[in-house]
Amino acid sequence: MTTRPRPLVAGNWKMNGLKASLSELSAIRDGVMAGGAGRAQTAICPPATLVMAAADLASGSPLAIGGQDCHANQSGAHTGDVSAQMLKDAGAAYAIVGHSERRTDHQETSAQVKAKAEAAIAAGLTAIVCVGESEAQRRAGETLAVVGKQLEESWPAGAAAATLVIAYEPIWAIGTGLTPTPADVAEVHDFIRGVALRLAGAEGAGIRLLYGGSVKPSNAAELMAVSNVDGALIGGASLKASDFLAIAAVYKG
Ligand code: PEP
Repeated sequence: MTTRPRPLVAGNWKMNGLKASLSELSAIRDGVMAGGAGRAQTAICPPATLVMAAADLASGSPLAIGGQDCHANQSGAHTGDVSAQMLKDAGAAYAIVGHSERRTDHQETSAQVKAKAEAAIAAGLTAIVCVGESEAQRRAGETLAVVGKQLEESWPAGAAAATLVIAYEPIWAIGTGLTPTPADVAEVHDFIRGVALRLAGAEGAGIRLLYGGSVKPSNAAELMAVSNVDGALIGGASLKASDFLAIAAVYKG
């Protein structure tokens, strides 16, 4: 029987960050080492160019580093791509896959997301699989159907609590300052927990379900208190150490 998951607060830097940004990462590391994230695990997913330097900086601290995507293959003729094995070799512990920006900008399908998640897990990473509906789909009342289909089709075979994290990220909430109501988040997260239990059996109870989309210090406590929300995936607010740590501080005490 799996116990209640330990929360995870993860930052997605997207295509932001030069070497100079590593000072923010050091500040996040120091804040986490000082107990700033309480009982939560923490991770930052910088661009691929910074993964190795970030992993070196975070080494020996509880702050984990992740990639933002990975190829489904381990190696080969895939110019410009990064494999899960390469991320692992660079010191990463997580790989985000299926972010809506990848699904939109690169027309990634759920079948591809599943293959990427399986590659991440095979390489020894924890896959953070993102799902979420568009504004039109929400207005049409299709949210649970869309999220359910994405989960079914993106779910990596054999996933367990230690190897899979699901991030519910309504597309219309990403980078917009808009968020669903706590009741709307609860409806989706309770639904996702049901799917996780069906697809992963008892392990499904321990799979972390993150909420993502315009999480900020001002709304984090309310969103993180929602049923079946086991942490956050944070975009814009993860670029500033003070904001990231203020969100993670929800899990103190
Ligand atoms: C994201 O893109 O994963 C995200 C949650 O972005 P933001 O926090 O900026 O809305």
